[in-house]
Amino acid sequence: MAEVPSKSVSRAQFGSPGLAIGLLVLYAALLMLPLVIAGMAGTRGPEAFARVAAKNFALVATTILFMQAVLAARIKQICRHYGLDMVLRFHKAMAVLAVTLLIAHPVLLSLGSGSWRLLTSLDMPWPIWFGRTALVLLLIQGITSLWQRQLLDFQVWRKLHNIAPVILVLGFVHSWIVGDDLESPMMRVLWVVLMGASVTAYTLHKFVWPMTRKSKLWTVVSVKPETHSVWTLEFEPPEGVEPLQHAPGQFNFLTLYRGDERYDGEEHHFTISSSPLQGQTHTSTIKSSGDFTSTIGATKPGDQVAIQGPYGSFSYVLDRPSSKYLFIAGGIGITPLMAMLRHMRDTAADVDVTLIHANNTQDDIVFRDELDEMVDGDAPRLKVVHVLDKEEWEGVTGHVTRTLIADVASEDLADYEIYVCGPPVMMEKIYRMVLRMGAREARLHSERFWL
Ligand SMILES: Cc1cc2nc3c(=O)[nH]c(=O)nc-3n(C[C@H](O)[C@H](O)[C@H](O)COP(=O)(O)OP(=O)(O)OC[C@H]3O[C@@H](n4cnc5c(N)ncnc54)[C@H](O)[C@@H]3O)c2cc1C
Repeated sequence: MAEVPSKSVSRAQFGSPGLAIGLLVLYAALLMLPLVIAGMAGTRGPEAFARVAAKNFALVATTILFMQAVLAARIKQICRHYGLDMVLRFHKAMAVLAVTLLIAHPVLLSLGSGSWRLLTSLDMPWPIWFGRTALVLLLIQGITSLWQRQLLDFQVWRKLHNIAPVILVLGFVHSWIVGDDLESPMMRVLWVVLMGASVTAYTLHKFVWPMTRKSKLWTVVSVKPETHSVWTLEFEPPEGVEPLQHAPGQFNFLTLYRGDERYDGEEHHFTISSSPLQGQTHTSTIKSSGDFTSTIGATKPGDQVAIQGPYGSFSYVLDRPSSKYLFIAGGIGITPLMAMLRHMRDTAADVDVTLIHANNTQDDIVFRDELDEMVDGDAPRLKVVHVLDKEEWEGVTGHVTRTLIADVASEDLADYEIYVCGPPVMMEKIYRMVLRMGAREARLHSERFWL
């Protein structure tokens, strides 16, 4: 039996549904606040409905933009209630809403005043040009974010996203100078407070916290090849820093410092593949799948790493307890599921787990020996089915199908808590398939390795 658990992992440690709802209500109230102040301030004269709508849209949209930096700052007190991926999806959805409202803003103003000069004339005062420039930059940012994978390399997109503060400053100055509503002292106070919150969140996230992390670098203590293209890196905290407290399945951000000019300082997400009960160290298991990860095997014990985390909500300990689990992994998508299995083993969990692990060839199967050992153990009661799609062998070949799931788990998945992590196409297919097999959506959990 593995080492006795020294610390427990509980749902409460990682978030509260009450606070999650409370924060959402607070956010909605904050968006409404400028409208309430505008209504009370009496700075607007009688005007066409379209102009009123235009101004309201701008107030709400600018408030959303102020809050975007707060949402993107990975503030643990916020993220732990939802999971960072959910917060970032919300950030994206709110950006789309803000851009839509801001596109409508000049159109409605023009409609309300019966003149299209605001949209067509070059002869406009500079604060209007500030607003126009902010809108164009926002559109560029919106389009490159929605279609990042098609348009730009991830790291280039990430750098481009750094124009956000410029957009915010332009929007702030524009609204401060031309907005009737900003004549109200109360609105000015609100605007300064929101801008302050935004600048603070951005500065902490981009400068202060990275510097703090860099002053307390962790050490790579081992680099273990798992397959021809996958390595497990083990990290030890610096003197005086606690080991990472995480739920099995969560991920962290790693920034390696290996004396490599090209990649030192480049941050990437990686799942924590070890059990939370491992002790002082933790691991990430990384597949060579792009320019940075293709250098991962060159990492040496003694190299330094900045670690930010944990984040994410893909963890069986954060969901409702169950006695039956179906795990489906594609390739390196095994890492969060392995962390959960290791935790189940370390806590002698009284559960049944069926793991379907899809790979191209036998050489691509990560953790094969350890999984075999777990199958022979008592807890969890584990069944593992390897599926290969690019090699004929004595096991299952092809793709993960409904028949396979029915054979190894059940035709009816209503009782299962299901966790899926793999390539996008596979995940979408499995999602639809298991729902058709009776899986409950609330019990179906997935982790995406792409943004
Ligand atoms: C929550 C999460 C957990 C992950 N866990 C693991 C894991 O345990 N093991 C593992 O091998 N991989 C994991 N990944 C994927 C890993 O982050 C990317 O494979 C890696 O960042 C690619 O970097 P690259 O420069 O080698 O590849 P690139 O050639 O730059 O890109 C390959 C793909 O990765 C995406 N990508 C690039 N950089 C990043 C980045 N910084 N963050 C997110 N996506 C990026 C790109 O959009 C592209 O689709 C995880 C990703 C996420 C979001």
